[in-house]
Amino acid sequence: IKENDEPERKPPSIAAKGRRKSTVAQELIKGNKRLSCAIKPPEMQTKRGKFGEASRPNQKFYEMIQNFRETLEITPISTTDLIEAYKICVCVRKRPLNKQEMNRKEIDVVSVPGNGALLVHEPKQKVDLTKYLDNQVFHFDYSFDETTTNDMVYKFTAKPLVQSIFESCMATCFAYGQTGSGKTHTMGGDFTGKQQNSAKGIYALAAQDVFHYLNHRRYADLDLSVYVSFFEIYNGKVYDLLNKKAKLRVLEDDRQQVQVVGLEEVYVTTAEEVIRMIQTGSACRTSGQTSANANSSRSHAVLQIVLRRNDRATTLPLHGKFSLVDLAGNERGTDVSSNDRSTLVETAEINRSLLALKECIRSLGKNSDHIPFRMSTLTKVLRDSFIGENSKTCMIAMVSPGMASCEYTMNTLRYADRVKELNGNSKASR
Ligand code: ADP
Ligand code: MG
Repeated sequence: IKENDEPERKPPSIAAKGRRKSTVAQELIKGNKRLSCAIKPPEMQTKRGKFGEASRPNQKFYEMIQNFRETLEITPISTTDLIEAYKICVCVRKRPLNKQEMNRKEIDVVSVPGNGALLVHEPKQKVDLTKYLDNQVFHFDYSFDETTTNDMVYKFTAKPLVQSIFESCMATCFAYGQTGSGKTHTMGGDFTGKQQNSAKGIYALAAQDVFHYLNHRRYADLDLSVYVSFFEIYNGKVYDLLNKKAKLRVLEDDRQQVQVVGLEEVYVTTAEEVIRMIQTGSACRTSGQTSANANSSRSHAVLQIVLRRNDRATTLPLHGKFSLVDLAGNERGTDVSSNDRSTLVETAEINRSLLALKECIRSLGKNSDHIPFRMSTLTKVLRDSFIGENSKTCMIAMVSPGMASCEYTMNTLRYADRVKELNGNSKASR
């Protein structure tokens, strides 16, 4: 009966890929506006306590979210799902609540129904103190829930890009998000205790596949060699993680070619070698900091896997390049505890580079001639990756599930949304 009341409203594109029509879509039909769960049917109120003791802070919100989830139809991503070849791929990954969050009974405000959709149940209060949820839905190329492994994330994101560099592409993969949302976990590998297992991250998985393709019949005739470089961009300056954090200069020649002068580019023959370099470089990244603020969350780390054609010339011609970037935390300069100048400069620099990155990817999506790469050091050193037919990029937006992170999560999702908005790929436009 309710549905007949509003026959003209169409569900938003939650089922855009046409694979299913979900209950979320049904729910969202009831008003193109945000949903409010403030008014509950009476039978739900009798179910009070269904989701455990009322001891939890925000128990009410917790119950509202659980009730909402019961109406969701979940389609988890599976290995048999089609992997699309995107020029620009934007996806989202939600990490699980961690131990500390569980201990303080933090509530999980993010749901991942699948098929690229993700919901944020933002807890809100009206002026009369009635609690309600502001449920907001986002759509990406893929959405990974808290149970998804790095292997699975890799399969849909970076793996298709690895093959592309053998086809002369310039590929990039970015991990974007708030500090603590899982960027390093995804790129660098799983942590067991304090130990980083670099063999399980996208860096290592990509390296393994590079050597797999290198020995493939199809690419054997290309006579390629693999080189790796690993550097950090902090406050607009480049530091070589494979050479004791040597500070390097970024130069642009008259043909607009950007060069990081003196960057180590190490010849590698096995994935194990690459993994060792990732470990050394990551250790180098976090150690020997002079400033208290100069921790890894305030810098971008860039691992580049470079394919060069073997040639008698001294500078071997570039065939393809894959840049994997663990971006600085995107949290805004709201940290009131640190209002000293250096922190402000640092924050401004991070914001500027993330803004520049978004603009460059958008330009790539529009096949624009004008790439605003000079806006930041990050986009300058990645300039190659934003131009031409042969550039492909993937952004993985990481979100923390907790209610305390809600605002940051929304910022991350809005940014990721903008990255792909207006681009020519009809798959992406909504
Ligand atoms: P970031 O690099 O974005 O600051 P980290 O990758 O260091 O965040 O993640 C913060 C913590 O959360 C780490 O202890 C990490 O092991 C854990 N973590 C992140 N993502 C996941 C995940 N998908 N599954 C399990 N633990 C995760
Ligand atoms: Mg990190």
